[in-house]
Amino acid sequence: MPAKLLEGEPIANEIKQEVEAAIADLKSTHGLTPSLAAVQVGENAASRVYIRNQRRSFEEVGMNYKLHELPQDSTQEQVADFIHQLNEDDSATGIILQMPLPKGIDEKALQMEIAPAKDVEGLNPASLGLIAYDNPRLVPCTAMAAIKMLDATGVEVRGKEAVVLGRSTIVGKPVALLLLQRKYSATTTVCHTGTIDGGKLEEHVGKADILIAAIGQREFVKGEWIKEGSIVIDVGINRVRVKSKKTGKTRSKIVGDVEFDTAKERAAFITPVPGGVGPVTVSLLLQNTVNAAKWQVEE
Ligand code: NDP
Repeated sequence: MPAKLLEGEPIANEIKQEVEAAIADLKSTHGLTPSLAAVQVGENAASRVYIRNQRRSFEEVGMNYKLHELPQDSTQEQVADFIHQLNEDDSATGIILQMPLPKGIDEKALQMEIAPAKDVEGLNPASLGLIAYDNPRLVPCTAMAAIKMLDATGVEVRGKEAVVLGRSTIVGKPVALLLLQRKYSATTTVCHTGTIDGGKLEEHVGKADILIAAIGQREFVKGEWIKEGSIVIDVGINRVRVKSKKTGKTRSKIVGDVEFDTAKERAAFITPVPGGVGPVTVSLLLQNTVNAAKWQVEE
């Protein structure tokens, strides 16, 4: 039987409703409207579209969104100084550093400069460290989105074999740490390019009751590798060009890290790409921003 589709939109809508309620509460109790300060260094066409969408999603739920544009030739020190100013600025309750940054700017070093209380992307070492302490606060949105998809299955995770493909700071590592929390207690394996070199990737995938793919390689994971009855959460976003059989025209399309059509015949649950993890990620940035504001005012 084909897998049940785990669509992101209903989960994202539920999170947005929680966010709207939390904003209303903050406004009535503390007279506070959460405000995100977005820092962009230099000019980038792709991030312009992304920022426009981000602004829209913040304004739709009633939060403030302020874009700060720094010149392309800003130095590491100048960007760090600007972040320090935002850290001290009470009118900014959250800070996000837009990617990509110009060449020569060290992204991780700047993430470390963001005050942990305002770190709505959850990429500061303090935020990541709290996950390791089994006390997550501001969690990287994509990693949390993958876990929300898993929650949506209603399947008991404890003792299941979870395999995470990818070990980035933004997705793979935090997902693995979240699965290791006592609350989930999955037996968790993390695969990366070393696993490929050891010739073991397919073997690990085949054992996964829960597979979370975040490698950024188009349809790399083949359907026949997937364990029957498993949960497949595909984080990958890969843009490909496809040619229409009818018109012969090529168009761009987004696919995941997993070969969806074949994987859905073996899995019990699967996320589509697009329309799976992506929309949930966006709603969790809203949630982190409102939570950061709430904790700043209440603690
Ligand atoms: P990175 O490129 O930072 O990390 C990729 C990871 O995958 C690395 O750990 C790398 O290993 C590993 N890897 C790459 N190729 C292979 C392979 N063939 N087999 C095993 N491991 C491999 O990517 P991100 O974590 O930032 O993103 C991963 C994917 O998620 C991308 O497609 C990205 O677009 C998508 N994404 C989706 C979001 C969403 O909202 N849905 C948001 C953010 C990202 P090594 O460490 O050894 O190099």
